[in-house]
Amino acid sequence: MKNFILTILFFSILISSAQAQQKPKIVIGIVVDQMRPDYISRYWNKFGDGGFKRLVKDGYNCRNTQYNYVPTYTGPGHASIYTGTTPAYHGIVANDWFDQKNRDTVYCVQDDSVRSIGGDAEAGKMSPIRLLTTTITDELHLSTQGKSKVIGVSLKDRGAILPAGRAANAAYWYDGKTGNWISSSWYMNELPKWASDFNERKWPNEYLSKPWNTLFNIDRYTESDPDNNAYEAPYSGEEKPVFPHDLPSLRGKNFDLVRRTPFGNTLTKDFAIASIKGEDLGSDSITDFLCISFSATDYVGHQFGPMAVETEDTYLRLDRDLADLFQFLDNNFGKGKYLTFLTADHAAEYNPKSLLDQKLYAGIGEPKALADSVKLFLQTMYGKSDYFICYLNNQIYLDHKKMQQDKLEECIVEEQLANYLKQHIEGIIDALTACNLQANEYSEPFRSKMQKGYQQGRNGDVWLQYAPGWMDHLFGNGKQGTTHGSAYPYDAQVPLYWYGWNINAGSTLREIHITDIAPTLSYLLNIGIPNGCTGKPIIEIVK
Ligand SMILES: [Zn+2]
Repeated sequence: MKNFILTILFFSILISSAQAQQKPKIVIGIVVDQMRPDYISRYWNKFGDGGFKRLVKDGYNCRNTQYNYVPTYTGPGHASIYTGTTPAYHGIVANDWFDQKNRDTVYCVQDDSVRSIGGDAEAGKMSPIRLLTTTITDELHLSTQGKSKVIGVSLKDRGAILPAGRAANAAYWYDGKTGNWISSSWYMNELPKWASDFNERKWPNEYLSKPWNTLFNIDRYTESDPDNNAYEAPYSGEEKPVFPHDLPSLRGKNFDLVRRTPFGNTLTKDFAIASIKGEDLGSDSITDFLCISFSATDYVGHQFGPMAVETEDTYLRLDRDLADLFQFLDNNFGKGKYLTFLTADHAAEYNPKSLLDQKLYAGIGEPKALADSVKLFLQTMYGKSDYFICYLNNQIYLDHKKMQQDKLEECIVEEQLANYLKQHIEGIIDALTACNLQANEYSEPFRSKMQKGYQQGRNGDVWLQYAPGWMDHLFGNGKQGTTHGSAYPYDAQVPLYWYGWNINAGSTLREIHITDIAPTLSYLLNIGIPNGCTGKPIIEIVK
């Protein structure tokens, strides 16, 4: 009997040590802010071998990866990738929303109860407090009793904080006022020495001390529109949106302009590598997780649009940053010892004016005119325009307190307003009300995306849907650059590549949802599935 127990014990130790080795040393989650999947084929001939091409040739490509909710914005995107669920459950319904309970507009990672660590006081009052479900990174923390290390890095606070989850060891983001990487007292009381040392090097100052010129001769950027065109917004202080962009004269007194250049991504890559070294990530048998989000692509994309030489140059430089990162990971952990995936938090449409000029149907909405007609409708129908609170994220927020005081039937007001706007605002093809969304279950593709993005208390009362090709809130003069947020393929389809530990080269055209990434990681790492997860593991990856 004793021998039998010893034998069992011996084998269970063998099995558990084998299982311990069956894990990657580290997972590197990479989000490229506003990346369209077609950039890879468009810029293919100018990419080097070590960056995007490595993912395509040696990785697994989920070619039909879609966002399954709206709005396709940065905050919800990062939250959904890492929680495996949609805003209806994780609660990050937009970047900013109107909080019905506290009657105030809030930012998705705003937290006035925490302090800034390492930089400007306001820029650091951020935490994941509004995130309502666990992330895959939280699940890793729980499954190892907190022994695995989890860190988030991004120029944008929300791009670092939401992926790393509530239980993260740290999240770091960029403060344009000081040029420092900073954090908040949610995570720490002071920056670790490696992070302060990095800040001491003053890289942003260096990046802003010379003009931004194209990596290759500008004549070779034939995949993009001519450099000087009316669809792009110049930098503030610049006459035309053309190279070379004279960063030293455009930067002003602070360091914020780095974000709007490809050098913001290089800075992010270097800080991410410093965090691996500084925290000894991936150095023991317990898997660690580093979440990197490259945001410069989004700032450049908004300003110049998908067809700009600036956007192309930003991706060509990101390709080199990725090659550097992968080379570092190879040297540090060994090929095949780390697991990585690359995706985007949303994509983006061509500039609508450029579509119109090519005879395509598109349009630019006018938020101010829309708000005015909502007020006029409420005034005419119910005698008061101040039932209207705000227009945010294509949603109209109404004042329920006032409507209740005046004994108005809220669902009827919403319905009548929705019908009025559908009939009278050009470009609006659908509108669902909060009452609709709470009472019905929608299966129509775009309506079901609204339902998955709706959480009572955080969303508005009438949710408008523009026709494909339409958008509002554009950059520059209101007609330049681009934006995103819709349910349509140009915003909702994103790249998804898996590479490294236990990943075989291949691809699938099967429809994958953005919420499938987190449960796939759960199965790969053999840990819990995030607690609000609605996605499914990608069988081609976990089999
Ligand atoms: Zn984004």
